Amino acid sequence: MRSRRERSGRWRVRRRFRAVALALATLVAVTVPAVATAQPQTVRVGVYENEPKIFTITDGEARPSGIFPNLLQQIAEEEGWTIVWVHGTWDEGLRALEKGEIDLMSDVGYSAERDEVYDFHQIAVLNNWSCIYTTPEARIDEMAALNGRRVAVLAGSIQETIFSQMAEKSGYDIGIVPASSLKEVFELTANGTVDAGIANNLFGDYFRQEYGLARTSIVFGSVPFYFATQEGQNADLLEAIDAHLSTWIRDSDSVYYQTLDRYLTSQPPTRLPSWAVWAVGVITALLAVSLIGMVLLRWQVRAKTRYLEAANEATAQAEETLRLALEASHEGIFDWYPGTGEIIWSPRSYTMLGYEPDEFTMDIKTYMDLIHPDDKEPITEKLGQITANGLPFSIEFRLRCKSGDWLWTNGRGMAVASDAQGEVQRVMGTNTDISERKQAEEELEEYKVSLEDLVEERTRELKESNTELTDANAAKSQFLTTMSHELRTPLNSIIGFSGLLTSGLVGELSQEQLFQIGMIQDSGRHLLELINDILDLSKVEAGAVVVHPSRIKPAEVISAIMESVRPLAVQKGLELRAEIPQEQTTIETDKDRLRQILLNIVGNAVKFTTQGEVSVRFECLDGKQVMFRVSDTGPGIPADEIAHVFDAFHQVEQKSGALLGGTGMGLAISQDLAHLLGGEITVTSAEGKGSTFTLILPIACIPQD
Ligand code: ADP
Repeated sequence: MRSRRERSGRWRVRRRFRAVALALATLVAVTVPAVATAQPQTVRVGVYENEPKIFTITDGEARPSGIFPNLLQQIAEEEGWTIVWVHGTWDEGLRALEKGEIDLMSDVGYSAERDEVYDFHQIAVLNNWSCIYTTPEARIDEMAALNGRRVAVLAGSIQETIFSQMAEKSGYDIGIVPASSLKEVFELTANGTVDAGIANNLFGDYFRQEYGLARTSIVFGSVPFYFATQEGQNADLLEAIDAHLSTWIRDSDSVYYQTLDRYLTSQPPTRLPSWAVWAVGVITALLAVSLIGMVLLRWQVRAKTRYLEAANEATAQAEETLRLALEASHEGIFDWYPGTGEIIWSPRSYTMLGYEPDEFTMDIKTYMDLIHPDDKEPITEKLGQITANGLPFSIEFRLRCKSGDWLWTNGRGMAVASDAQGEVQRVMGTNTDISERKQAEEELEEYKVSLEDLVEERTRELKESNTELTDANAAKSQFLTTMSHELRTPLNSIIGFSGLLTSGLVGELSQEQLFQIGMIQDSGRHLLELINDILDLSKVEAGAVVVHPSRIKPAEVISAIMESVRPLAVQKGLELRAEIPQEQTTIETDKDRLRQILLNIVGNAVKFTTQGEVSVRFECLDGKQVMFRVSDTGPGIPADEIAHVFDAFHQVEQKSGALLGGTGMGLAISQDLAHLLGGEITVTSAEGKGSTFTLILPIACIPQD
């Protein structure tokens, strides 16, 4: 049996040998890999519970975990060993090793006594020291504090040996309570069965939080830990372990450090009660359902987002369109909150008055200050109505511009929001610049007034001139009547005396005298005719002719006229024809005036026609009118003369140059008389073919009795 010191001395010699052996082994492994795997070696390893150094995971099949199993597993894989893990307590493990039932025992702390019984490899897997743990309230930080107290320790452990010696040396009365596992040590400490518990720093720091314990400042016995074999057995295993450890320890990225990191820095896995496992299951299921829900939700959100984006886009477009429309329309917008008096104005509302957009903050008071003094009252009244009934409104009023000028505007709008009590909360609308329209209206009003004045003035003038005209007409008639009388008296004397002379009753006259006196008589007659016509015309025009209607038979009137013109017609070889379909018909009109008209027209026809015929036709038209039509086959009237044949004193020059007599007054008088009877004379004529004069009177034919 060798002491540890001896082993240390030997180590330096063996290290050289091992370096050579390792190099050889590596060479063999590289060049002849089949050798290592050709004869797989089974290694039985003892496992006990000392988490995190070594422990058993029992979910399903029991398998070892922790620093020792992890490293050994790594070595076994590289060496081609097959490991058989043999689980048991610490004591069981040691006994099995002694009996050769296992090849290696894990986590064996070195001591001189143990070195007698087991063999260790050279490089410690890890160094461990012991620590005293207590509940935080116990406040134990020196050995003296343990006097009269009980301390739990793992039975048969190095700690037990060392602490027993320490307690003995200190002379304090410390009760040592053996426990079967380090967990039991902590359980006894945590539940108050003992005052303190001893554990290696690895286990202690790993589990103290779980048991609610704190580390004290009492630390002792730093001990290296190894795999151990039965004395004199399995030296190859120990050597292989050393070879790997020496390589790993030099390489900070090696599996050795990874393993230490994994087991020493992580917290112990939280032990879950069975209900918690169920809860975890249920939660997992719920999570799965939630996940599906979430995926669906996300899909929906995405669809909704797309929809919202499209809607937003549409809204933005609509807003832009509205903005452009408003810009184009030159309307200002207002948004009024009667509750607070706040008013929001669009930029156009400001610029309309010559201000910069947002040049000042608008509210109801500022707004009222801008309103023309004369418009304030109606506006106040209107605003009152709007806030009371919220109905659409439109009002025209003046606002003061920045320049001080007044601008006519039209405010239109309506309530857009009311509270539960029906109180109007928000009113929106537009302001329109109507100054141009107002100016046009004012100008129009001015025109209207001046036009009315003008009309009044002209009417007055017209009345005056009308009176003058009436007076003048009356004076003219008076003059003509007087003159006619005064002319007719000497004329009648001239005609009478010239007739007396030509009759031979006052003595024989020579042929020449007869001819001369005949000329005097003809001229006298023509003058008389002229005077009579002038008198007739002026009488009609002066309104001095009175109509005396009576029942007459047109056939009789026409027949009488025919007779009076017959001598001339016979003389000229003309045929006279009367066409009277309703011969017995009677009408009611002024017989003398009618005869005067017809005699003139028929007389003209006979007078101007040189051959052919003259016809007179009477007809009852549609029951409301009667027609007299005189047609001839005379020379006709040139087109440019037709319009003038009814003018007084107008005579159409005859192509034949014949002098046919007349005064040019006949048709003028006839037309005036026709008007007097409510009718009208019209003429159609074709030069060289004849003329037709038509008299229409607005009277009905009276059916025959
Ligand atoms: P007058 O006394 O000269 O007949 P009227 O007023 O009766 O005056 O007629 C005006 C002119 O109209 C005549 O001078 C004649 O030139 C023309 N006129 C009237 N009737 C006829 C007719 N039937 N045929 C041709 N010319 C006519």
